[in-house]
Amino acid sequence: MNTLRTLPITGQAVRSSTCGILRCGVWLSTLALIGLTAYAGSPGRVELPHLVMSQSRRHIRIPDILGFQTLKCDFHMHTVFSDGSVWPTIRVDEAWQEGLDAIAITDHIERNPSKKHVGGDDNAAYTIAEPHAREMGIILIRGAEITRAMPPGHLNALFVQDAQKLDVPDVMDALQEAGRQGAFIFWNHPGWADQQPEAPIMFDIHRQMATNRLLCGIEVFNEKEWYPAALDWCHEHRVAVLSNSDIHDLVSHTYDLERGRRPMTLVLSTERTERGIRDALFAGRTIACFDDRLAGRAEYLSAIFEASVKTRKIAEVKNRKNEKEYVWEIVNSCEIPFVIASVHGTWSVPGNRTIIHRGMPGVEPVPVRVLNLHVSGEGTLNTEMVFHEE
Ligand SMILES: [Zn+2]
Ligand SMILES: [Zn+2]
Repeated sequence: MNTLRTLPITGQAVRSSTCGILRCGVWLSTLALIGLTAYAGSPGRVELPHLVMSQSRRHIRIPDILGFQTLKCDFHMHTVFSDGSVWPTIRVDEAWQEGLDAIAITDHIERNPSKKHVGGDDNAAYTIAEPHAREMGIILIRGAEITRAMPPGHLNALFVQDAQKLDVPDVMDALQEAGRQGAFIFWNHPGWADQQPEAPIMFDIHRQMATNRLLCGIEVFNEKEWYPAALDWCHEHRVAVLSNSDIHDLVSHTYDLERGRRPMTLVLSTERTERGIRDALFAGRTIACFDDRLAGRAEYLSAIFEASVKTRKIAEVKNRKNEKEYVWEIVNSCEIPFVIASVHGTWSVPGNRTIIHRGMPGVEPVPVRVLNLHVSGEGTLNTEMVFHEE
């Protein structure tokens, strides 16, 4: 290679290079043939089993807390049975590959532009996807999107028995029917500009529904939009926070799955079952997860932070003023990064990483604010970090 770089390309150099490539090629071919023969043993048909093995599931590392399992869920997505572009089983495969525990396919009741091509009723997507979900270990929840003008706008009903019965002219009749079926109903994309061109507001009908326990959750995040005001509404009305993709095309076309993950609702569940998820949703035991941020009740975010971030003293050193200093590891075992502000500085601790911090010979708890953990529309988590000597 060096010869070719430094000398003009002569016939000699080209010939010797060509010979080298040929020799190299022969060796590579021989090695490849040995490898392929080992796989299949037949010159007529060669199987490559490692290609099948490339189908794999990612592990999302967010800790279990407070005695609950932290389940990763997406309760809002579409298929060809409304205005989405994929077949229902693809939603199951995506969820499995991305490491989710549960999904709900929530096709629009009232909007189905593909109807003339695919037919089927409002239960079809669930019926098609459910056997595949069962064999892949994904919890599939039967859902539907009640799609109306604002107010009340778009609402998802989960755990319905028969989505077809929600297809009625009056929106309140549809919601009452969902309620009769035991559905968990939440308000979708409350700040969507198409329906709330000014600053998002909560309407009286939403307040009444929340009071009557007909509305039990609100999306604080939808697709690519975060609605801080909706987090305050959730607290005020004691309803669950949700964060969902509302995906219509392939998930991988909308989110960078190599460096991040789709938005998710983290459900704090007693068990990895539909029943466990249902109980947790009605009890409001959820955290919204989006764009390396978490939003929800302070007690849950504090528990996630405490379970994820540990400190450890690794050395004692002298600083430039010859004063004693400690060298600390700050270890983040969660895949969500944390941006931690304190009087000692701001530490950005990437997901699944450890950083080094020098200073702080004391072992008193240090008050900190975690800037990407949202406990209210304008507030982030205040907590403390303990720096242990051992
Ligand atoms: Zn919608
Ligand atoms: Zn939708």
